[in-house]
Parts: sequence; structure tokens; C-alpha cells
Amino acid sequence: MDLLNTLVDKGLRRELPTREEALAVLATSDDDLLDVVAAAGKVRRQWFGRRVKLNYLVNLKSGLCPEDCSYCSQRLGSKAEILKYTWLKPEEASKAAAAGVAGGAKRVCLVASGRGPTDRDVERVGRTIEAIKEENEGVEVCACLGLLSDGQAERLRSAGADAYNHNLNTSEGTYGDITTTHTYADRVDTVQKAHAAGLSACSGLIAGMGESDEDLVDVVFALRELDPDSVPVNFLIPFEGTPLAKEWNLTPQRALRILAMVRFVCPDVEVRLAGGREVHLRTLQPLALHLANSIFLGDYLTSEGQAGKADLEMIADAGFEVEGTDTTTLPEHRSDAASCGTGGGCGSGSVCSSEEPAPAATTEPVRGDQARTDLVAVRRRGAGTDLAPNA
Ligand code: SF4
Repeated sequence: MDLLNTLVDKGLRRELPTREEALAVLATSDDDLLDVVAAAGKVRRQWFGRRVKLNYLVNLKSGLCPEDCSYCSQRLGSKAEILKYTWLKPEEASKAAAAGVAGGAKRVCLVASGRGPTDRDVERVGRTIEAIKEENEGVEVCACLGLLSDGQAERLRSAGADAYNHNLNTSEGTYGDITTTHTYADRVDTVQKAHAAGLSACSGLIAGMGESDEDLVDVVFALRELDPDSVPVNFLIPFEGTPLAKEWNLTPQRALRILAMVRFVCPDVEVRLAGGREVHLRTLQPLALHLANSIFLGDYLTSEGQAGKADLEMIADAGFEVEGTDTTTLPEHRSDAASCGTGGGCGSGSVCSSEEPAPAATTEPVRGDQARTDLVAVRRRGAGTDLAPNA
């Protein structure tokens, strides 16, 4: 297919596809699916070989958030029966993190519900980072604490944080339909603050919230412009008790097309397969490893993932290898730039500025034909419980 040959060539040169090309990937038929995966897989292997980076989530503070993000089980008014607890002590968080590291995780992601941290919260997270780094040599720590105020990114950086996550989640045009208590611009601002403080920026999306193909392309192009080092791709877990509980819009095939599109638009960025992979990709998860070079090991913030052992077996069976701490995740041209705090760019500025205008809407979101609520399990183990974590 000409489209795929063009996209592979561009991906190998780190050149931005046009919006039409990105939309065309999402519009490919199921008959072409393996060709799409193979093409995006070439780009993935060029920049990341067959390595898979493992990340481990530690939910430092769960539930009771004052914000109203419709997709989130921790939101204001959520009826989802999730674990609810306040800040874990540094030693509790460190214990949970150690389980992930022992399972092969190279990065620990410390997440707390809420609009954003107070300065006292930042200090507390700083002590937690210190405790984790003392116990686990070489581990990367990413903080995800919501919207940052001036100076907080710098303080997290001095406390030892390597990265900061704040997702854009969806397009600017639909953001107000998903959340009303903060804006898309607030989110962009926090990613920029993290970047400016020399933290490795991590920012991604959630697919499956009823958005159009154009919305998906919008958010991925916006991410490319923001230039994070890692882009988590979440697939909505429609939790009972949240406003999006009935949004079962994804098929495994569509989830793969979305990942392929992200890989073509951000060829040399850590594309991370994130929440919802077990629920929406199901038995096709191994194919997603040809597109994403990074996954979360074990459980998520409020839901349970498949067993950590099953993750490791899947990686080995699919012919991939877990990335070790002695390997730098990003290609040299990006890691050099990231280490001097300027960001590497997933393509040159001149290429980024040659974007073409968005075409008119062409496709409707694909509706999955049945809800798989049987695959959604609320997390009942690990951080905040007396039970061993899944790692
Ligand atoms: S701010 Fe974070 S924890 Fe709060 S509702 Fe939004 S996504 Fe959930």
C-alpha cells in the first residue's frame, strides 16, 4: 500500500506525516490490519529495537478528587467502588515500588489524585522519591500529581524526579465535554512547566471516549508539538459509576490502528501501552508490542491488570525483551537533548511546521458490539491494601 510505504519512509526519517495520512491509518480496513502493524513495527524497531520498557504504577493517594474528569473512577461524585485512601507514607510507597522493580520495571510512576499538589505535597513526594531511589539503584521516578504551580516542577526535579506525567487526554475541541473543572490549556501549561524544569515530559491520551478520528489526530499532533519523551496511550476503561460507563467504543483492531497512528506521528518517542490494554486489545495484546515500546507492568491505579508474570511471558513469547537499566530508552538524538533539558523533538522544527490543515470529518467512531464489563476488575491489592502487589 502506498500509504504505508510513505509512512514507513517518513517514520524512519522522523518526518511528520500529514493529517490526511494519519486519518487514513485510522480508516484502514481489518483486512489491512496486519500490514499496518508490520509497517508501524518497522518504525518501532528502527528506534527501539525489540526492547520493551516496563513501568510500574504506585497510586500514592486514591479517590476523592474534587475534579470532574468524566473518564476517571476517582472523580468528584464517582460511584465506582474503588479503593480510597490518603497519602501513602514514603516507606509504604517504597515497598510497593520495590515490588515493581523486582518484577523488571525500570520506571516507577508515583500518582496522586487531585487537582494539583500543595507545596507540602511536593515535599512529601520528594521524601518518597528519596526513599525509592535509596532502595532501588538506577530506577527512574516519574511523578504525576496533577496541575503544577510555579516552582513545583523545579522542586520535584531537585528532589530527584526524572520525569513528570500529565496527559492531554483528548483534543482541545472536545476537552470541555470531558472535564469542566480545568481546561486543556491548564494541562498544556503543566506539561510545559515540567519540560522547562528539565523533567522528562510524559503526556498522552485516552482513546474510546466517543471522540472522532479527527479528535484523535488532533490530540496526537498536539502531543507531537509539545514534544514529550513518552506518550502513554490509554484505552478508556468504562467504569460503572462514572459518566462514561456506557462508552464501549473500541475493538481490538481499532486499538491497534490507533497505536499505529501514534507511532507514525511520534516515531522516535516512547509510545507506552497504558490502561485498558487487557480490556480492549484482549488476545491481540502481543501485536501491540510491535507498535508500543513500553508498557505498564501489573496493575493500574484503580483497576487490576493481568498478572505481572503474564506480561513477562507475553513479551518473551512475542519475541521481545525487557529493557534493562543499563540501556537508555530513547534514541541517542533524543536522550542527548533531553539530558540538557531542551527536548529532542520527534522531528525537526521545519518538518513540524509543514502540517496541512485538517480535512473534513470522514469517519465515525467505531462502536464495539458488546461491553466487556467482565474484564474490568477494581484493584483490591497492592498500594493502600494489606495484600501483595501484582508485579
Ligand atoms: S484530576 Fe486526576 S484524579 Fe482527579 S478526576 Fe481528573 S484524572 Fe481523576
